Amino acid sequence: MDRYRVIPGTAVDLGSLDPADTSAFSNGKSAAKTRLKALNDRMEALQELLFAEGRHKVLIVLQATDAGGKDGTIRHVFEGVNPQGVKVASFKKPTSRELGHDYLWRIHAHTPQTGQITIFNRSHYEDVLVVRVHSLVDRATWSRRYDHINDFERMLTDEGTTIIKFFLHISKDEQAARLRARLATPHKQWKFASGDLAERERWTDYQAAFENMLSRTSTDWAPWYVVPADRKWYRNLVISEVMIAALESLDMSFPPPQEGLEGIEIT
Ligand code: AMP
Ligand code: MG
Repeated sequence: MDRYRVIPGTAVDLGSLDPADTSAFSNGKSAAKTRLKALNDRMEALQELLFAEGRHKVLIVLQATDAGGKDGTIRHVFEGVNPQGVKVASFKKPTSRELGHDYLWRIHAHTPQTGQITIFNRSHYEDVLVVRVHSLVDRATWSRRYDHINDFERMLTDEGTTIIKFFLHISKDEQAARLRARLATPHKQWKFASGDLAERERWTDYQAAFENMLSRTSTDWAPWYVVPADRKWYRNLVISEVMIAALESLDMSFPPPQEGLEGIEIT
């Protein structure tokens, strides 16, 4: 899965990366689903170990355009994982209270504690994405944020957090298809926001903002992965594989049992 990791310091050109790529898994969709099931079981076991060991914290960041698949990713990649061990923090338009603080204030409050996995559905990166595209602050202000963010993430990793960031890369055509499906399907209509169409008109600006984000904030301590996400099954598989590999590399073990368990009889 290393092919999707953004090497720190390299410029990302999203136009040259195929959102419909499925090259790392050539056995097709149905075999992929079987594989995903096995990975889900592994994820469940690793999450339990993470919790039992209580030494590490794991932060997953998801960013994408509207209809990019963030919600679906959370549903499928964490299927079967004990809900007590995983938290999801979704970041919306900041409230006036949040706006009264620096932009990382509301983020920091949701970072994981030991033994926990937290998934950010949108994140502090909105402050160099939507905020930049809509000029909600001036250029000098958002430009400084890449460095702030790298330093913030460095601090979190120094303090024992593992950070993995996924950018779900979909094509403009795929976004159109998904938005159309939201409009046409009664149980999906609640997800349709007419504002999404205004955002879609700024597609090129967003792609530029995503490219800058990826180039400036993929670091050795908190790497970005650009996940081909037009095919949902492939997106799920790539993210699962990356996460499992990261959890495996933590080299965790269950804490030793308390002494003298052999002699205990339950009456
Ligand atoms: P959704 O994820 O579809 O519920 O939409 C959440 C909306 O909140 C998106 O339009 C985001 O761009 C917006 N949002 C999230 N964070 C920020 C932020 N820091 N500043 C402005 N808008 C934001
Ligand atoms: Mg939305």
